[in-house]
Formats: sequence, structure tokens, C-alpha cells
Amino acid sequence: MMNMGRNGSKDLYEEMCDITPGGVSSPVRAFKPYPIFAGSGSGSTIIDVDGNEYTDYCMAYGPLILGHSNQYVITAVRKQLRNGTVYGMPSEPEYGLIKRICDCVPCADEARLTSTGTEATMHAVRLARGYTGRNKIIKIDGGFHGANDHLMFNGVGPDLEPKAFSAGVPECMSNNIRIARYNDLESFGNIMEKDEDIAAVIIEPYMGNAGIIPPKKGFLEGLRRITSEHGVLLIFDEVITGFRVAKGGVQELSGVKPDMCTLGKIIGGGFPAGAVAGRRDIMEHMAPFGDVYAAGTFSGNPVTAAAGCATIDLLSPAQYGKLERYTDSIVKGMTDHIYDSGIKACVNSALSMFQVFFGCNSVSDNDESKKASRDRYMMLFRHMLSNGIYMPPSGGEVNFLSTAHDRHTTDRFIEAFGDFVRRGNE
Ligand SMILES: *Cc1c(COP(=O)(O)O)cnc(C)c1O
Repeated sequence: MMNMGRNGSKDLYEEMCDITPGGVSSPVRAFKPYPIFAGSGSGSTIIDVDGNEYTDYCMAYGPLILGHSNQYVITAVRKQLRNGTVYGMPSEPEYGLIKRICDCVPCADEARLTSTGTEATMHAVRLARGYTGRNKIIKIDGGFHGANDHLMFNGVGPDLEPKAFSAGVPECMSNNIRIARYNDLESFGNIMEKDEDIAAVIIEPYMGNAGIIPPKKGFLEGLRRITSEHGVLLIFDEVITGFRVAKGGVQELSGVKPDMCTLGKIIGGGFPAGAVAGRRDIMEHMAPFGDVYAAGTFSGNPVTAAAGCATIDLLSPAQYGKLERYTDSIVKGMTDHIYDSGIKACVNSALSMFQVFFGCNSVSDNDESKKASRDRYMMLFRHMLSNGIYMPPSGGEVNFLSTAHDRHTTDRFIEAFGDFVRRGNE
């Protein structure tokens, strides 16, 4: 990689800071001294406004499973653009995307499209409340479901008292939320036994916003069993995992079928998207026939739908196999370097996602994830950046592979990671 300096990014950032809070449109994108401004992306590569090239492992935080500007997707989008960008009427591309979701995702008898994952979780929670006539939702500590007021709570103290992780969320909303622990069935059972007002559990079946944390054996199966026993709806938030770990998401891989799920990221093929999907008897409670309101000017947008359909059509078992193989190579390479250098760290992964936790021997829930050294992660981030590799700028996020990553990018990542752990040990 040529190092051309980053003055273009620096200047733009200063201008941006004058006109938008923190100089970014979403806070995860900020890092010190200033974020890099993207110029263009192609395949696994992103080029910044100064002409520096990076192999991208952030991949826009998950949507770009085919890499940047995949030609097949771009062609489908171009074709749709000739016919219009938004109609305010139902359309054929929209039908195509909903049909693919219902064909691929086990719990999806029906699906309703939205423009973001945040809207999808907002609608799912409202639908669960409307359908059951109950008020409370159980979420996991460290689970993230978008900037949705109803779910922006984590647990505090040993009893995981719900506390909003943003100012501006009314205190009283904490009355309608309960917090449980990932990979800890008992923490769910205890809440459901004591409280008859629980409408639903919403959970990322693989935690993807505290690094990546896969479920322990039997956890999702157990959660299915106890929610059914208590008449509580089970909602999988598969905004990250849907069409990423398999076309049918974690529910396909695990065989555990939730009552509802939320989707986003990949289904938009690089454009803004979300969806709520689920059992027919639940979904039919949505307006216009049902009494639960859910709406959006851009919901089912035809450009998004064209890109989403093209993306889904390109994903094959061979592609998923390749994604998994390269991720496994990276994880093995990293783990070997960690072992050889004697530092304390572990690497979690699930299919095409991975993350390293410094200072931990294992990470299976949010408490353990929070113990990881975020400073050390940011040192890694900067080291990788200077080696032409863009990881997500927070250890609480996840590295994503796309089908555009290959043996070469894999080897380079492992080598640069090896340099970092060796240097840290000198
Ligand atoms: C990204 C994400 C969301 C929010 O989706 P947006 O499109 O950013 O609103 C919801 N849930 C999970 C699990 C996510 O990772």
C-alpha cells in the first residue's frame, strides 16, 4: 500500500464537525484523531479520499456480503433506476424480495419490509405487544437492536436492573423491559416465572454487537422451550445474521424456529433495508387488516428490493462455504500467533464473522466481552490501518468477510496481525 497521507480526510472531518455532531452520521464511525473518508469501494477494497487503499473488514458493519459494488447487483440497480426510485404503490421488485425472504427464512410465513433494522425491531416489538396484549419485553444485556427507544437498555448490577444506555429515553420505559444474560437460560426462566406480563424475548441468536459471541450448545433450543412454555413470543433479531450465516439465518442453521424475526443489512444489497417476518397468525395483526400500525414512505423501496434480490440470488452454498473457510483460516492464523507470542487473548467467530478479545481466555457473554482491553484493540486497529487493513474501529463490533475476500487478503491479514502481537510482546 502506498501511504499518501490523510489530509483529505482530516480537512473534510474538520468541515463536517462544524455542521454535524461529531463529524459523523452514526457514532460508531468516529475514531481519533479523525475518521477516514471513503472515496470508493470495489470488492474487498475501499479507497479513501486521499487515494489510500485498504482491505475492508468492516464492510459497512455487515450489509456487503458480496463486497463493494458487486457488478451483478449494480446492473440490477441500474435497470430499476430506469423505471423509478420510489412509487408509493406496491411493486414487483418488492414482491420479489418478500418472496425470497419467505422462501428462505424458516419462521417467515409473511414479511413486512421497512427501511432500516431499527424500524424492524420497533415494529416487531409493537406487534408482539399488540398480538399478546402484554407489555414487557425481555432483551439480553449487551444486545443491540438499533436506535430503538424501547430496546436501548442494558442491565446494571447483579440483578441486571434495566438502565437506558442513552439520555432522552424516558425513565418510565424501563418498566416495560427486563434484562437477561446471553447463554444463561436461568436468567430468562427466572423473569418469565415471576412475571405474567412478558410479551416477547428479543435476542440476537449470535450476539453480534459485543464482538461476536456464538450460543452455547442447547441455549437457543432451551430458550425456544421456555418461551413456548410461558406463552412468550420468541423474536430473533437476525439483522446481522440473516442471509449471512446461511440464507435462512441462525434459525436455519440451528433448527430453532422463532415466532418472529427481524432482518436488515444484507437484504438491502447495500441499500437501506429492514424487515419483520414471522408466523402468519401474528403478522396478520399488522395494519391494514390488523390493529397494529407499521408504515414507512420508503418501505419496500424498489431500488433496495432490486439490489436485495440480486444479492440473495448470487448467494450459493459454495459461497457460504468459501466465506467460512477463509474466516476459519484467519481465526486459526490469529490463534496461532496469539499462542506463539504468549499474550492473553482469544478469538471468537461464527461463519463469516470474527473478533479478537485482548486480555480474555474466553468470551461467552457481555460481562466477559466488556472485560476485554478496548485500548489494546484500538492499538491493533491503528496497526492494521497502517498496513492497509480497515477493521471496525471498536472492539465491540465485528469483522466481516465478503465473497470478494480471498486467499491473498487472508494471508495479509494474518501476517499483519502476527506483527502486532509480536511487537506488543517485545
Ligand atoms: C444493525 C443492527 C440493527 C439496526 O439496523 P439499522 O439498519 O442500523 O437501523 C438492529 N439489530 C441488529 C442486531 C443490528 O446489528
